[in-house]
Amino acid sequence: MNKTLKFWILTLITFTMIAILSSSLFSSYLVTKKSLIEKSLEQNEMYALKLAKMSEEVFKAMEANLEARKPDVIDHIENPEELTKILDQLLISGKNFNSLSVIGSDSIAIATSPNIGITGNKIESEGVEEALRKKESIITKPYKAVTGRLLILVSTPLFDDSNTYLGMLNGTIYLQEDNFIQNILAEHFSEDGSYVFVVDELGTLIYHPDKMRIGENVSENRVIQSLLNRKSGAQELYNTQGTHLLAGYSYIPESKWGVVSQTPYESGLQPLSGIMTKMFFYTLPFVILFFVLAYLLSEKLASPLKNLAISTMNSNLGDVSVQNLKVSTWYFEAKQLTETIENYRKLQEEVVANFKDLSLTDPLTRLKNRRYSELFFADLLEQKNSFSIISIDIDHFKKVNDEFGHQIGDETLQFLASKMMSSVSEKDVCVRLGGEEFVIILPNSSLDEAYIQAEKLRKEIENSILSMNRKITISAGVGEYKVNKENVIELLHRVDEALYVAKSEGRNKTVISP
Ligand code: GH3
Ligand code: MG
Ligand code: MG
Repeated sequence: MNKTLKFWILTLITFTMIAILSSSLFSSYLVTKKSLIEKSLEQNEMYALKLAKMSEEVFKAMEANLEARKPDVIDHIENPEELTKILDQLLISGKNFNSLSVIGSDSIAIATSPNIGITGNKIESEGVEEALRKKESIITKPYKAVTGRLLILVSTPLFDDSNTYLGMLNGTIYLQEDNFIQNILAEHFSEDGSYVFVVDELGTLIYHPDKMRIGENVSENRVIQSLLNRKSGAQELYNTQGTHLLAGYSYIPESKWGVVSQTPYESGLQPLSGIMTKMFFYTLPFVILFFVLAYLLSEKLASPLKNLAISTMNSNLGDVSVQNLKVSTWYFEAKQLTETIENYRKLQEEVVANFKDLSLTDPLTRLKNRRYSELFFADLLEQKNSFSIISIDIDHFKKVNDEFGHQIGDETLQFLASKMMSSVSEKDVCVRLGGEEFVIILPNSSLDEAYIQAEKLRKEIENSILSMNRKITISAGVGEYKVNKENVIELLHRVDEALYVAKSEGRNKTVISP
């Protein structure tokens, strides 16, 4: 069997809902993902900026510390013991340095704190040479010291009152050991895999959670490229290791370093699945509600057509009225269709009735025909009622035809028919059996009453002048049906015999069948 309208409506609704739901979830997914990425980038950028500011302040404080002790150092430049004491104090109070040293203008280490065994030695490391050459406050790039350590030097020059260069006061930061950068950055420890690293002005790692990587050059990294151009910002990238990352970065002008804070892409998007699941479950009740409403509506939409279909399928349209079947028609198409079917049904009914009428009527005279009389007799017999009949025949009708033509003959038949009709009561039936044979059936009439009726008609005809300016006469036979004693054919035969008697006795006469 074909699928119903309701099925198709529900299918359409289901597809539509799936499409809307999935497209809205998909667009939410895209929007949420974008905002999570933006949020992560922003957070990393803010964090890198904060760390850069903190680092900058620490550097300034370190330089200020060195600067503050400079007069003391200059005063005791000739006294290594005293200098060592000063440096010890500074190491404790400053906290941020891993070691301190005073190096003379001849590169000889005068004093250190703590004692790292280089006092009296000529120091020929990269950083020291750079500071001696420049004779100004500098923060060196990372270099390998004579001790083999990777470090940076924060250095300030020493001049006496006569502006003679005496050497320099240095603070060092051991990059691969505990240092202040670590103290600041170690806080940025996150379970989601986020981490921070610091590069110098050449893109060399100064701080990295993986200490083995300190000293490695990562200037190929796109973020580092930006930092080397002294820019701060945030971006999505693949690092030198091929990891997809969300990075924020900030440039530190004081040291010319860059701080990078980054989160693995997957970690940044980790809340996404939770958000999407929540969104799905928030939407679900609405989807269910909508579906129930849609289901009810589809039922309501489909039911008029369904009822219409069922009623037209199960019923003979001629018998059953669509409106009787209570087809609700609350929308245009169903209403129109129901009306059309109903109109068609009425029309069909009329046509059928018309045909029925035609099939039982004599076309010339509009009297009932032989078929009708048979049905009518059958009815009367069934009711077992007595009735009478009058059989009528026009006298010398052939002559009418011969003299005036067939047309006038027909009109004569019509004239007789109309006289018959007007002479009988409503319950009586006038029949043209064929040719010029007529019968009047009189239910509930006695033989006498039928005779009176026949005589009345005969006289009426006798006294009428027809269109061709001529009179006609009729002869009639009358008989009453004998219940349970004869059949209709016998009755008709009897009455025809009476009619024959009337003819033979001179016509224009009514004879009763005994
Ligand atoms: P009678 O009955 O008095 O003995 O003489 P009659 O001339 O009427 O004889 P009969 O009844 O035998 O003749 C019937 C005639 O009726 C024969 C036929 O020409 C004519 N007739 C039968 N049917 C029709 C009809 O439909 N139209 C016309 N115009 N004539 C018909
Ligand atoms: Mg005849
Ligand atoms: Mg006749």
